[in-house]
Amino acid sequence: MRSMRRRLLVTAAVLAMTAGPAGAERRVARKPTPTNAGDRGRKPAERRPVPKLPETTAWQRKPKDGSYTRWPVPAAGHSRSGDPELIFTFDNGPSEKYTSKILDELKKRHIHAIFFLVGWRVTKKGPHRATRRALVERMIREGHIVGNHTMTHPHLCHLPVKQAAAEIDDSHDALHELVHMPLVYFRTPYGDHCHKLVKLLDERGIDHLHWDIDPQEWKDHDAVRVTATLRRKMRSVARNDRRAVVIMHDSHKVTAMAFPQAMKWLDRENARRVAAGKPPVRILDGSDLASELMDAKLSGWVRQTGESAAGALVGALAGVVP
Ligand SMILES: [Zn+2]
Repeated sequence: MRSMRRRLLVTAAVLAMTAGPAGAERRVARKPTPTNAGDRGRKPAERRPVPKLPETTAWQRKPKDGSYTRWPVPAAGHSRSGDPELIFTFDNGPSEKYTSKILDELKKRHIHAIFFLVGWRVTKKGPHRATRRALVERMIREGHIVGNHTMTHPHLCHLPVKQAAAEIDDSHDALHELVHMPLVYFRTPYGDHCHKLVKLLDERGIDHLHWDIDPQEWKDHDAVRVTATLRRKMRSVARNDRRAVVIMHDSHKVTAMAFPQAMKWLDRENARRVAAGKPPVRILDGSDLASELMDAKLSGWVRQTGESAAGALVGALAGVVP
């Protein structure tokens, strides 16, 4: 029952995100909507030790349940517009040091991103708690989407199923307190993939959003090199009219330095493209993807429920539409 309830709430959240026109009016539609989705009376777990493993090598490690497949790429499918499309995502925040710099850059450019936040960062008592919580509220206010990146950033596939579930649910609840709506987007730390995790997400009606471009700034703290990597990979997307999800980390100083530089390059690239009669690289946001997700979920639902349910829906609509 609980998973069904969560599924319905996620669908409602996607509908809320996709409702209304683009821009400021759409942001109004996504303003906090009261819901009791996360209010189950449980307190988020205290911070547990974070495994110190590099961000991507988990993919090469075999999870204990024997599964060995990966998340699908391209992470958000192929370009629907036929033009190059980029989706910016930032993980592991909010950071009292660097997140505001990323938010300033996004605001200056009127673009929106998806922030995959770690729950303990907004629950841990201490001098930064209020600042971090205010940053999450700022994200929502400025039209960004907040996603769940677990409570303590563990390798979920290496945890007992109950603990893995708590990592997802506790973080959802902690973040829900601030964003006031179910979190549609989820990203598993280190990109871990296993049947157990897929089942846990499926039970909750949520999906992992993977990535296509990883400048690995969590490992390489040289802003010049990171900017060059971003530029090279974004150029490849632009030249081939592809769609790519970019992963960065607002918990690192190098990201706050490299991201504005990469965006300046994108400005120049777009100017070159327009001068050559080509469409500029589009920046999609979470609402654009949610809209596509909704299409897919609805069409899947119609297929599953069959003609009788579709007929009942048409009948019900006929009763209320004059
Ligand atoms: Zn992460």
